[in-house]
Amino acid sequence: MNPQKLVIALTKGRILDEVLPLLEKAGVVPSETIGNSRKLLFNSNLPDVQLMVIRGSDVCTYVELGSADIGIAGKDMILEYGSQGFYEPVDLRIARCRLMTAAPTGASLDSPRLRVASKFVNIAKQYFARLGRQVDIIKLNGALELAPLMGLADCIVDIVDTGNTLRAHGLEPRDFIAEISTRVIVNRAAMKIKHERVQSLLQRLQAAVDAMPAVKV
Ligand code: AMP
Repeated sequence: MNPQKLVIALTKGRILDEVLPLLEKAGVVPSETIGNSRKLLFNSNLPDVQLMVIRGSDVCTYVELGSADIGIAGKDMILEYGSQGFYEPVDLRIARCRLMTAAPTGASLDSPRLRVASKFVNIAKQYFARLGRQVDIIKLNGALELAPLMGLADCIVDIVDTGNTLRAHGLEPRDFIAEISTRVIVNRAAMKIKHERVQSLLQRLQAAVDAMPAVKV
C-alpha cells in the first residue's frame, strides 16, 4: 500500500459511464479522458488520488490485497469473488439489475441432475446448494443465453435487467437470486490508515448518490 496515494480501482465497461459522473460530483475527475484510452492508470485533479481501470472481478482482488484502497464494482462481481476481506460501505444505486435463473420458456427443470451454465459459478453453486439440489455447473464467459438453446445446459444463472435478452432467445426468468447494483468497497487497512481521506470520499460519494433522482427498482 502506498501511504501517500489513494488508489481507486474502477470497473471498466458499462458501469464506468455511470460511475464517472458520480465521482465527479464527489470531487474526483480523471486528468485525461478514460473512455478511448489504452491506459489503465490515471492521475486525477486531486494530487493524491489515482484511478485504475480494470475488470470487475479484478477490482475485488486489488482491494482485498491492498494494492487499491477503494474499489467500485458490481455486487455480482463481489458475490462471485465471495470474500469478506473488505468493507462495502456505499451502494451507488446504479447499474441495477437482478441475478436470476433462467430457462427455456415453459421447460421443466425437474431432472435429478440439472446442468446449469453461468459465468457466476460460485454464486450458482451456493444457490443450488442452499436449495439442496444436485447440479453440474458449466462455466461460460459470455453469451449464456445460447447454452440452453444449443443443448449445453438446462438453465442458466445470469444478470437480468429488462429480460429482453432472455426473451430474444426463447428463455424466461425463473428464480430470483440477488439484487445487484454498483458498490464501493474499501480495503480494511486503508479504512484505518487513511481514515480521514477515505471517509471524506465516501461521504461525498454518498451525498452524490442521495442527490440522484429516484430510479426504477
Ligand atoms: P436485459 O436484456 O435488459 O435483461 O439485459 C441483460 C443483459 O445485459 C445481461 O445478459 C447482461 O450481460 C447485461 N446487463 C444488464 N444489466 C447489467 C448490469 N447492471 N451489469 C452488468 N451487465 C448487465
